[in-house]
Amino acid sequence: MTTSPITRFAPSPTGRLHLGHAWSAMLAHDLAQAAGGRSNLRIEDIDSARCRPEFIDAIYEDLRWLGLDWEVDVMIQSERMDAHSGALDRLNDRGLVYRCLCTRADIASAASASQGPIGMLYPGTCRHRGVADDAPMAWSWRLDTQKAAAIAGPLVWRDALAGTAIATPEQLGDVVLARKDAGTSYHLAVTVDDAAQGITHVVRGRDLFAATHIHRLLQALLALPTPDYHHHPLIVGPDGVRLAKRSAPQTLAAMRDAGVDPEWLMENMRRRRFPVGFALDQA
Ligand code: GLU
Repeated sequence: MTTSPITRFAPSPTGRLHLGHAWSAMLAHDLAQAAGGRSNLRIEDIDSARCRPEFIDAIYEDLRWLGLDWEVDVMIQSERMDAHSGALDRLNDRGLVYRCLCTRADIASAASASQGPIGMLYPGTCRHRGVADDAPMAWSWRLDTQKAAAIAGPLVWRDALAGTAIATPEQLGDVVLARKDAGTSYHLAVTVDDAAQGITHVVRGRDLFAATHIHRLLQALLALPTPDYHHHPLIVGPDGVRLAKRSAPQTLAAMRDAGVDPEWLMENMRRRRFPVGFALDQA
């Protein structure tokens, strides 16, 4: 049975959206619309230190300006903590996560620390340390990735970029599933919430391709469905560098203030044409 696609745009309200977000949101929106499906919006605001309410309002404003519409039920990720911790408990019951007391500095200074595809690989310091629940410091929860991958067995996902992608989550090491300060993490929250929203097609930037290895593993461990993935090329600015929320001139708000016509912008982006100074990163 084929079902209509359900996609999502999942921005983090840590700054104003830029043209790269508009591109990603448009692709997610259009993929669903073209096949009579639905597109969802999810506000990924678990990082309370960096997320701000005014940026949530700005996301709505920017999407409205672009003429993109979404299902009315917007998922607010910070309201989903019970679902995230329930998933973590299930992994804990199976002995697949462990407490970790390490700081970033501890990890960076560990002799065996090395760089993985999305950041520093955890050297496994706390894996067999048996940190007790009365430890005097806050702990994070890490996935014992090798053990989990062995239990899950071979895994693949369908990817518009890579065809059939073989999951090799071990290359990301023991990732954090619950941060000390947040009780959840990007990897856990995105996997649990994509399933809760019934997402059939995850449309997102190519920079998150590597993270999918972990997401696919978590889906297997938590018995969640696996969507298709569309990892799209990123947009780069005049310097050839990918856009950043902190660069005010690159934001959609700046374009709006400069009098850019959103219909013109969207029509051109749909033909893979971008305003002067912006281009798709072909790397
Ligand atoms: N919230 C993430 C971001 O703003 C995107 C997560 C995803 O699409 O999986 O970069």
